[in-house]
Amino acid sequence: MKKTLRLHNTLSRRIEDFAPADPARVTMYVCGPTVYNYVHIGNARPYVVFGLLSRLLRRLYPGVVYARNITDVDDKINAAASAAGVPIDQVTSVYAAAFAEDMKKLGADAPDVTPYATGHIVEIIAMCQRLIATGHAYAAEGHVLFDVPSYPGYGALSGRSTDEMIAGARVEVAPYKKNPADFVLWKPSTPDLPGWDSPWGRGRPGWHIECSAMAEAHLGETIDIHAGGNDLMFPHHENEIAQSTCAHGGRIFARYWLHNGMLTFNGRKMSKSLGNVMLLHELLQKHPPELLRYLLLKAHYRQPLDWSDSAIAQARATLDGWYGALRDLADVELTGEPETPADVEAALLDDLNTPDALAVIAGLATASRQASDRKAAKAALLGAGAMLGLLRADPEAWFKQSSGGADAVDPAEIDALVARRNEARKARDFAEADRIRDELAAKNIAIEDSAQGTRWKVVNPNECSA
Ligand code: AMP
Ligand code: ZN
Repeated sequence: MKKTLRLHNTLSRRIEDFAPADPARVTMYVCGPTVYNYVHIGNARPYVVFGLLSRLLRRLYPGVVYARNITDVDDKINAAASAAGVPIDQVTSVYAAAFAEDMKKLGADAPDVTPYATGHIVEIIAMCQRLIATGHAYAAEGHVLFDVPSYPGYGALSGRSTDEMIAGARVEVAPYKKNPADFVLWKPSTPDLPGWDSPWGRGRPGWHIECSAMAEAHLGETIDIHAGGNDLMFPHHENEIAQSTCAHGGRIFARYWLHNGMLTFNGRKMSKSLGNVMLLHELLQKHPPELLRYLLLKAHYRQPLDWSDSAIAQARATLDGWYGALRDLADVELTGEPETPADVEAALLDDLNTPDALAVIAGLATASRQASDRKAAKAALLGAGAMLGLLRADPEAWFKQSSGGADAVDPAEIDALVARRNEARKARDFAEADRIRDELAAKNIAIEDSAQGTRWKVVNPNECSA
């Protein structure tokens, strides 16, 4: 049976069958972070979701090239470096490394190429020159600007009129601009700012041209999929389309445009400028990475996703249930890598329907408890988990990590207390056994006596007394 991947294409605003231009080399570009701080949990959403898409594409096609860039030249970086009193490349190298490490922890699929904007200045200058030569850009006062009216297709992705776009972008009115909507491809740098020699003097690129040049350098003129958050649709993606299409003689830039919805906090977009961010780096110190990953996959990628303490607690309870099912199957030995269940794959093929895929896992976890074929039940659960990047931990280890203040727990110390309690019970010293149970409860450790022995797990403080 031929498997068809269906994806929502922002260009048509419809779900379409995905057919790559060349099935032997499927290309995808995802706009990467601007590295001037730790990323927040909202920033992680596109990389988890579209990373999962890259994983799915690799199952369907023999060759996939996934590029995720690093924006390492930007005015926000310059401001952060000057505020901290450190060199600019110190800011970018620290936060690019932190980003890579945090993405790895979260299980966000690694791209095949990670282009850095500063590594593509030659290509950026060449693209500016091509745009000037073909009448789509002009130089003025050390700047190069894209001439928006020269590209009649401008606004097709976001579906905005020019007036709306000008108002929405709060475009800078500058004397060197021919039209208010024209945007910067290149701008002059003062000696204290990063800059490169160019035909227009020492300067640096604008943000949008960086992605156009990097996509062309690594993936070619026309790419299959371009993705990012829906906050980038305008002006960033609209400008990328204008630049790339005009630099490539009118050939289509990206055939499918995918946009994730925003992660919100108390209903407002999580964003550095609103000051309501939760840094991924800090969340990873408090919670198991799979819990964060689960939450990012729980909503459909095009929907908004509200982050809250209650969502975290609920996620913990769900994953505890699934890991509990796996722990009950601990005696079942499997050989080889378990396959992805067909209904999990079918859900993902349907415009990455992760809520449905997670519902399948929930069903498998429940069914496993009464399963007559326990081997098949365990294989299905692990196969589904592997596809989504979940259930990768050892169940015993899962229950021994806490959600919130993980470092406080020393498993060896807990094991010793549990052993002492069992000895007390054997000696029928119930007062001592109860005292140790209370001591454990004070450390947010709950114990459970079963036929297999005594198990312990870290729980929320209010769960302990239960
Ligand atoms: P930036 O570094 O601001 O360019 O953001 C990196 C990526 O995170 C882009 O794809 C943005 O669209 C995405 N993004 C930013 N804020 C959010 C949010 N609150 N929810 C989901 N995605 C976001
Ligand atoms: Zn971009």
